[in-house]
Amino acid sequence: MNVYDSARMAELLAQIGFDRAALVKDADLVILNTCHIREKAAEKVFSELGKIRAVKAHKARRGETMLIAVAGCVAQAEGDEIRRRAPFVDLVFGPQTYHRLPELVARALQADGRGVVDTSFPEEPKFDHLPQARTEQGVTAFLTVQEGCDKFCTFCVVPYTRGAEYSRPIAQILDEARRLLTLGARELTLLGQNVNAYHGEGSDGREWGLGDLVRALAEIPGLDRIRYTTSHPRDIDEGLIAAHRDVPQLMPFLHLPAQSGSDHVLAAMNRRHTAADYQRIVERLRAARPDLALSTDLIVGFPGESDEDFQATIDLVGEIGFAQAFSFKYSPRPGTPAASAADQVPDPVKVERLAALQTLLARQQRDFNAACVGRILPVLLEKPGRHQGQLVGRSPYLQSVHLAAAADRVGDLVSALISGAGQNSLSAMVAA
Ligand code: SF4
Repeated sequence: MNVYDSARMAELLAQIGFDRAALVKDADLVILNTCHIREKAAEKVFSELGKIRAVKAHKARRGETMLIAVAGCVAQAEGDEIRRRAPFVDLVFGPQTYHRLPELVARALQADGRGVVDTSFPEEPKFDHLPQARTEQGVTAFLTVQEGCDKFCTFCVVPYTRGAEYSRPIAQILDEARRLLTLGARELTLLGQNVNAYHGEGSDGREWGLGDLVRALAEIPGLDRIRYTTSHPRDIDEGLIAAHRDVPQLMPFLHLPAQSGSDHVLAAMNRRHTAADYQRIVERLRAARPDLALSTDLIVGFPGESDEDFQATIDLVGEIGFAQAFSFKYSPRPGTPAASAADQVPDPVKVERLAALQTLLARQQRDFNAACVGRILPVLLEKPGRHQGQLVGRSPYLQSVHLAAAADRVGDLVSALISGAGQNSLSAMVAA
């Protein structure tokens, strides 16, 4: 989502005469658009700010002005701390106020080093104030349809930094989708912190869920592929499952965070579902779309996680079989309930559990990739590869596929015979 937000910021700044600079030293304004999900996110921001400060000082000696801004979720969570520890930062704003960027930059220029902070949650939806996408898109583009989260998982900062769940109006989303296609996109990934909580008033007067939105998008000529991320198991409804069954443009690949296979840990995480619920959801999805491949997020060493709890995670992974996964050691996020839980798991235990889990996940990914060899898969060609005469595209299951093809075939959807499989990618030859 930060990629999407950064693109919107660039368009807002273009309205007041800014252009992209290739190097920090050439910039009049540097924005660090930050993510709070990462471990030690704030420390990384301060370390990066130290480097940019040196550039700012160098430019000042030459009589040139440079503004430094910190945006995104670290700014939202730690705005005052940033100004205190890094008073050379001119502008701090959160994910919900970046539509005010032109005004904020004007204020920062007049503030004479005193700094401007805007981490409010405005009444007006920012999407009503963003300019339309104007820059040429790659073959795949992001489209935010939903933002924020009301789930309050006990390890997560998102509800505090992105705010309450908000769904964009359907007409606005369809307009933006058409525009992204005219700018070159052929695949759209619908974004939301909790994307399948999407709801909006449909053209038929009904409340539409994500499944209805996917169906409406699939009617736009030229949109070959639709994906969405990130989903919550509780919000997978019949409409979305039916869309997976009926809409060929909706890719048979779903990122569905499980987080843990232990009901005890899931309850402590406030995930509001059990491991059996997760399995039942996957069964229903696979009944609707038998070739559906899954990816997931998993946390090991959550406070209170016992050996039995961890084994339950291993069991769930073994039963589901994931094509890809992101797995992490639990690390506390300041201000979240789990951060102050008494029963933290020692780091060496986390390290051991993560290694065991990742060994299993890597094997599943390798096996999934190997099972594709010999199949003909549709591949959307996205960009040049590392080698001369090579292009890289994506399979329906989001695997990177490397194949020999002329550069002008970027943007083509080709049938590719998969000839080889590695841990993270496939090799292929164009079959048609
Ligand atoms: S559903 Fe996702 S975004 Fe929302 S609180 Fe839980 S982990 Fe965070």
